[in-house]
Amino acid sequence: MKNIIIAIDGYSSCGKSTLAKDLAKTIQYHYVDTGAMYRAVTLYLLQNHIDIYHPEMVEQALPAISISFAYNADTQSQNTLLNGENIEHEIRVNPRVAGSVSEVSAISAVRRFLVQQQQAMGQKKGIVMDGRDIGTVVFPDAELKLFVTADPQVRAQRRLDELAEKGQQTTFEEVLANLEKRDSMDSSRTDSPLKKAADAIEINNSHLSKSDQLKLVLQLVHERINPIASSIE
Ligand code: C5P
Repeated sequence: MKNIIIAIDGYSSCGKSTLAKDLAKTIQYHYVDTGAMYRAVTLYLLQNHIDIYHPEMVEQALPAISISFAYNADTQSQNTLLNGENIEHEIRVNPRVAGSVSEVSAISAVRRFLVQQQQAMGQKKGIVMDGRDIGTVVFPDAELKLFVTADPQVRAQRRLDELAEKGQQTTFEEVLANLEKRDSMDSSRTDSPLKKAADAIEINNSHLSKSDQLKLVLQLVHERINPIASSIE
C-alpha cells in the first residue's frame, strides 16, 4: 500500500483528534497530535515560571524540552510525555494550559522548534497529523488535506462533555469563551495562522456521526492511495 501524509486542520474541539486517531487506527498509520506538543511546551513554561510574554526567554528554554508519545495498550490511547513524564491528563484538564497555549503557539521560535520535529516524524509518510498549520506549513505537499469545522455551540458542548468525562467541572459559557478566544488568536496570529489550505477538503461535522465522517474520509484516502482503482469504480 502506498504511504501518504494526511493533514487534518481545523478549529478547536471540532473532533479533529478523534477523527485522526480513528483513521490512523483503521489504516494502520502513525498518528501525531500536534496540539499536544504545543500544550506540552505551555505546561513546561508554566511549571518553570517562564514569562510567556517574553519570547526571548521562551526561546532560551526550548532546548530543555523533550516531547515524545507513548502508546498505552491497556487504554488503547496515546500519552504525551514531557521530558519522560506522562503529562497527558494534565495538558487536557489544566485550565491554565488551555488559557495560555494560544499565546505560546504564536511565538515563532516555538513554532520553528515544533514544526521541525513534526516534519521529521512525517519523513517516512504513513502518518495522520492534526493541528492548525499541518496542510499549510508543516506538510504543504501532503497528499490529502482536510479542514474540519463544526458550529461553535456544538464544539463547546463536545468539549464540555469531554472535560466532564475527565472529572473536570466547568460551565458551557467558560468552555465556549475559551474556544472562541483560541480560534480568534489562532486565526489572527502573524506566524502560521489557522486557515484552510487552498487544496484542503472542508468537512463540517456538526450533524455528521463519527462513523459517517470516518467512512467519508476513508473513501478520500482510498482515492489518494489507489487513484487508478478509484477512477474505474
Ligand atoms: O488541538 P488543540 O486544541 O489541543 O491545540 C491547542 C492549541 O495549540 C491551539 O489552540 C493552538 O493555539 C495550538 N496549535 C497550533 N498549531 C498546531 C496545533 C495546535 O498553533 N499545529
